[in-house]
Formats: sequence, structure tokens, C-alpha cells
Amino acid sequence: MGRKLEREFSAGGVLVRRIRGRPHCAAIRPQGKAAGVWALPKGNLDPGERPEETALREVWEETGVRGKLVEKLGDVKYTYTRRNGLRVFKIVSFYLLTASSGRLGEIEERMRVEVAEARWLPLDEAPRLLAYGGERQMAQLALDRFGA
Ligand code: ATP
Repeated sequence: MGRKLEREFSAGGVLVRRIRGRPHCAAIRPQGKAAGVWALPKGNLDPGERPEETALREVWEETGVRGKLVEKLGDVKYTYTRRNGLRVFKIVSFYLLTASSGRLGEIEERMRVEVAEARWLPLDEAPRLLAYGGERQMAQLALDRFGA
């Protein structure tokens, strides 16, 4: 029996800001995840939206910080199973962004159902602190570009 595999496309960002000269990247703890589970901000493409636009919008909505697009970093691919048992194949395009304005964690109330907390991770620690392998690779690419 062939099982249906749903597809999802999302886009997100490695948003970099220098704090006291040291590059950091914005990470969120998704609502419902244990303390210490850090992920990159991302979300589903709205109809008609280009992935780089989604990345800028989602980063802003989930972190409170506006970014400027630098370049695409790559695609992260994984599968997961929804509560109803449906398997989902997902591709998330990640972009390197630099912070332009806003304060981390100052987000709209409606976003709190998705985001439990946000913090700046030192970029050289992000490949170890992020929870998912694909996102760790994206952080490493940003680190290669910005240094520690
Ligand atoms: P989006 O942020 O794109 O709107 P979502 O919150 O609906 O997405 P995901 O973040 O894709 O959904 O999470 C769905 C499941 O996949 C969760 O169980 C999560 O732990 C897992 N997951 C999230 N990112 C990754 C990843 N990079 N690699 C493997 N599993 C992941």
C-alpha cells in the first residue's frame, strides 16, 4: 500500500548581529519544546511569497528583529509524522541575514503560541547548541562566513 507523503515548504534565517564585537545568531525555543531546545526561526511560505521574503517575515515575527538579506545558505530536508499519523516531507530554505532593527523577544502576542523564548547564541557555539542537525549545518556556514 502506498502511503501518502505530504509536502511542506518553509523558509527561515540565520540572523546575525554583533554583540560587543562577537557575532551571535537569533534562536528560538518553539512552544512545547523542553528548555534548552534551540531552533532557527522559520515558517511556511504564504501564497505568492518568495522564500527569501518568508525568511525575513518569519524571522521578524518570531524574534522581533528585522533582518537584511545577505545570501542563501542552503536547504534543510527532513520528514516528520503529524499527530494524525500522516508523514510529512519538508524542505526549509535558510538565508543568511544581518540584524537591522528591533529587539529580540519583543514579538506580537499572537506569536507566543509558537515561540516560548528567544535568545542570541554566540555564532561559534550555535553549531553545537542548535537542536537539529540541518540547522547546525546552516549555523556552521554562517560561522564560516562571519568568523567568531
Ligand atoms: P514551521 O516553523 O515551518 O511553521 P512547524 O512548527 O509547523 O513548522 P516543524 O518545526 O517542521 O513544524 O516541526 C515539526 C516536527 O519536526 C517537530 O516534531 C520538530 O521537532 C521536527 N523538526 C523541526 N525541525 C527539524 C529539523 N531541522 N530536523 C528534524 N526534525 C525537525
